[in-house]
Amino acid sequence: MKYVLVTGGVVSGLGKGVTASSIGVVLKSCGLRVTSIKIDPYLNTDAGTMSPFEHGEVFVLDDGGEVDLDLGNYERFLDVTLTRDNNITTGKIYQSVLEKERKGDYLGKTVQVVPHITDAIKNWIESVASIPVDGKDGPADVCVIELGGTVGDIESMPFIEALRQLSFSVGKENFCLIHVSLVPVLGVVGEQKTKPTQHSVRELRALGLTPDLLACRSSQPIQENTKVKLSQFCHVPVANILNIHDVPNIWHIPLLLRNQNAHEAIIKQLNFYSMATPPDLK
Ligand code: ADP
Repeated sequence: MKYVLVTGGVVSGLGKGVTASSIGVVLKSCGLRVTSIKIDPYLNTDAGTMSPFEHGEVFVLDDGGEVDLDLGNYERFLDVTLTRDNNITTGKIYQSVLEKERKGDYLGKTVQVVPHITDAIKNWIESVASIPVDGKDGPADVCVIELGGTVGDIESMPFIEALRQLSFSVGKENFCLIHVSLVPVLGVVGEQKTKPTQHSVRELRALGLTPDLLACRSSQPIQENTKVKLSQFCHVPVANILNIHDVPNIWHIPLLLRNQNAHEAIIKQLNFYSMATPPDLK
């Protein structure tokens, strides 16, 4: 199994969900089978009891799971049927660990965030990623994981640590990290600012994760010199810096990504070229 992790920096509501679904679409159009997992680092078990004013619309899955609307985006973009287990929350992870603790499964050990919570997260991801969601037999080729919230939040720390461990255990050629960030423009100066992205990439690297691709959100298309600057300071090749500017309709985003050859950068990173039967890239 190969993983594409989508994280977000600078501010929330950047469009990580839409970016993750769109990346799934471009990979699917290359002939790959795609599944997805959404991580919500809140303590609620699911979105069912959360106010729609605060949380937005709750999406109900076929199995009755009440989840974040992003799972609705995944189902619609990728034509898959997800289950409640494709949405991981801090609440679900702690519940499963505490149930095991009460049963005595930890054999008297002190139960801790590392390794017990992080192991539970890794095991959950690996087992859910291998369940087919597109009606075909066998596991998908790629699992797109979206980590909700913003890198650096206290809530997401155990997930970041678990994902760092997962990236190490599956190896570089099986793990691609795409960091969604913001490139704002200062009204008076009119210059596209890279500093917020530099800071959030530095934060990510301090936690042991290095982005392979950057997906930069901006109001207008970002300029070539902005990309060069981002590349120099964030340690990401220019070809791997994608721009997702504001569009009138989110269905434009998969095309926006494909026109920037996002699929080629991801496929190269995940070493799909060396597979016995390479996917059709036409
Ligand atoms: P996050 O997962 O980061 O919280 P979402 O994917 O839920 O963000 O997106 C937040 C909102 O921004 C959604 O209403 C989405 O439709 C909108 N959005 C995302 N990307 C774009 C874009 N490139 N242009 C216009 N609207 C966008």
